[in-house]
Amino acid sequence: MVRPGRIVYHAAMEPQATKLICPVVCESLDGVRAELAAAARAGADLAEWRLDFLHDRPSADALRAVLGDAALGVIATCRPSRQGGRWAGSEAERLGLLADAGRWAAVPFVDVEDDVPQADWPVEPARVILSHHDFDRCPAELDAIFDRLDSSPAAVNKVAFACTNPADALRCCDLLARTSKPTIALAMGQAGAISRVAARAWGGFGTFALARPGASSAPGQPTLAELQETYRWADQHAGMDLFGVIGCPVGHSMSPAIHNAAFAATGLDALYVPLHIEPGREEFERFMQAATDRSGLRLRGLSVTIPHKEHALEWVGPDAVDDLARSIGAINTIVLTGEKPGGLNTDYAAAIDALCEAMGIGRDGLAGRSAAVLGAGGAARAIVAALADAGAGVTVYNRTASRAEALADEFGADAAGLDELAWLDAEIVINCTPVGMAPHVDASPLTPIPPSVKVVFDTIYNPLETKLLAEAARRGCVTVGGLAMFVNQAVAQFEAWTDRLAPRAIMQQVTVERLGRRA
Ligand code: NAP
Repeated sequence: MVRPGRIVYHAAMEPQATKLICPVVCESLDGVRAELAAAARAGADLAEWRLDFLHDRPSADALRAVLGDAALGVIATCRPSRQGGRWAGSEAERLGLLADAGRWAAVPFVDVEDDVPQADWPVEPARVILSHHDFDRCPAELDAIFDRLDSSPAAVNKVAFACTNPADALRCCDLLARTSKPTIALAMGQAGAISRVAARAWGGFGTFALARPGASSAPGQPTLAELQETYRWADQHAGMDLFGVIGCPVGHSMSPAIHNAAFAATGLDALYVPLHIEPGREEFERFMQAATDRSGLRLRGLSVTIPHKEHALEWVGPDAVDDLARSIGAINTIVLTGEKPGGLNTDYAAAIDALCEAMGIGRDGLAGRSAAVLGAGGAARAIVAALADAGAGVTVYNRTASRAEALADEFGADAAGLDELAWLDAEIVINCTPVGMAPHVDASPLTPIPPSVKVVFDTIYNPLETKLLAEAARRGCVTVGGLAMFVNQAVAQFEAWTDRLAPRAIMQQVTVERLGRRA
């Protein structure tokens, strides 16, 4: 055992790859020991022990029990209540506790808030992480705050601030690009996720990640497994191309897993991140401006989902998209690899191609066939536009009849209410409602399936086989599930961004595997 007072510099102090730092926030010492062991097992490089979470001020024996044989290096932190922490005791006692913890060899760093005078720092500057937190906003004076940290004698700078748009999180990238020493720069909240998951590509000293979901010390922390499995942690380095998905919400999007797996499988130097952008055109445009202003970010393409598909089309401009995307009024893909931004609606092509492939026909083979589309939302809109464009005769059935009428009017289709489903007389049925989606797997939007129906396409992909599809299969119909559409749109995005053939089988495998985890 290494005795207090003898500083042994931990490997974690060497200037090397970005550290995975696991926060340990427990009220009991047993909990701390268990969490440290879990952090080490999960692959953390360092743990941050939040001493302020303990029920009682730890004695010398308690520190020995935790730090005497810690499984990994520990950053000692004791956040006072004035800085959003739980420490309610005196400042002298707090700094004394940090000094005691800092005597252990297992503690390479001690976190010291930037409002603590240097004369009171509990350990020598070479082991201080000088931190500034703002839990309310991205401070207007961020640059000045950072300059103060950076000019101090502390070994490591740390800034963490709340953010509501990923535009603010990009400020972390700016700070990391100009820092003179190891720096942790993180934006908190869902909108700040990019600063956490891309920390290695951006050259941060560390990022905080959890050994298991929950148990976080700040909003928006990913798990260690997510960083390693979904965000190419081992492959991340400076100069990677950046892609992402814009939406609200995007927290449960499978797109990062699918596209990062595709980049890895094709050996592309690219990273795909979630970009949570609140509803509203201004929010969307604020991010796009901030991202495209920074050439060093290497943003090359974006997936766009609800509620920003219309904003995306407005942003790229009507001339940047094809006729059908223009008439749909929405795109789900932005391409930033050319001289000018491009836009695509891979949703409609993905749906129509999945349908035609199952039917063994080309798009022109849809001409003159009759199709019933259930639903009049975003997915239905793209599919009705594409079916009408291919010359199919379409009837839109919707719960809210007026929405069915409005959609049908736009694309020369017929409209009906759900009460008219009993008289449905079409060859093809496409479900574009969430009826039958997990967890309501016993529901079906159309039962029984009328005799005219030969092909049933359910856009739902969770479950892979809905009740509607199971019934259709029993009746001998050709069936198409939402998985094919989902994978098709991702494949088309990948190919538009990279000009390469997408690894479809891997993308499908990752999608199925992720869906299995949700079940
Ligand atoms: P949306 O814009 O919210 O539209 C939902 C549509 O479903 C509306 O027409 C709505 O009718 C109708 N609806 C909702 N709940 C209903 C219920 N209980 N009974 C009957 N009708 C109901 O959603 P969206 O973006 O179009 O997505 C719709 C579905 O498409 C999703 O649930 C998803 O399963 C599927 N989808 C699949 C993919 C894929 O890649 N496979 C992609 C996108 C969407 P009202 O107008 O009356 O509200």
